[in-house]
Amino acid sequence: MPFTKTIIVTGSSGQIGQAFVRHLSQSNDNYYIYALDKNKFSYNKKNIKNIEIDITKEDEVLDFFSNVKELYGLVNNAGIGVFTPFLSRTVAEFKNVLDVNLVGTFLMTRESIKIMIKHGYGKIINIGSIYGVNSSDFRIYGESGRNNSEVYSISKSGVIMFSKYLAAHYASNNIQINTISPGGIKKNQSNEFIKNYNLKNPTGRMGETNDLLPALDFLLDKKNEYINGENIVVDGGFTTW
Ligand code: NAD
Repeated sequence: MPFTKTIIVTGSSGQIGQAFVRHLSQSNDNYYIYALDKNKFSYNKKNIKNIEIDITKEDEVLDFFSNVKELYGLVNNAGIGVFTPFLSRTVAEFKNVLDVNLVGTFLMTRESIKIMIKHGYGKIINIGSIYGVNSSDFRIYGESGRNNSEVYSISKSGVIMFSKYLAAHYASNNIQINTISPGGIKKNQSNEFIKNYNLKNPTGRMGETNDLLPALDFLLDKKNEYINGENIVVDGGFTTW
């Protein structure tokens, strides 16, 4: 295994992606990070390479991977949602969510595994959601008009199953594929939503991006060659009841 570990993080300019990239870039594990995002974004650090890419476009994904020779890890973090009511859902909205959350994840994973098989190790972490495990409680959204969507939940349960499927198929290649499913991360939600969410959460608060980092480190640890196909829910206990 190389001294420097190359790792790809998609959605790297988003809220969670930025926390992941910054954390990994400061780690003692000597990561070299390909920070992928559709948006132009610059980290300006010598162990981070910014790549502007749309992960739903196969030609762009293949072009990126033509320059990747070794790969320790892949964090499939890019994801989108849609928040309008189900009865006004359009086919375009539905397909768009599946395209990023599933097709993008599939393309990145397929190309990564091809490399990982060659050198006989690899860690893949897919970012799911509590809403890929449980249905969302529409009551906590109040009058906001915003609600988690059916297609987001479908896509995230698909991500969890994708991890399990691949974990079974590539365990013999020493590739571990797991999911981290975050609960709601605090950003600029309405006061009403935050109050309702906190009340439902045994920990009494929304998540912070830092809350996800222990699970990331744990799954990326090179000593982990046996935790495979798991879904680690990081939600302060929100889904326990
Ligand atoms: P975010 O919107 O802040 O970031 C997502 C990033 O993905 C953006 O930078 C966006 O440009 C990028 N992206 C979108 N489509 C892309 C494409 N086609 N190609 C390349 N990049 C693309 O979202 P976030 O809150 O940081 O979420 C990160 C992940 O965590 C997502 O998969 C999300 O579903 C999941 N998640 C988030 C929460 C939360 O509360 N924030 C909770 C559970 C799960």
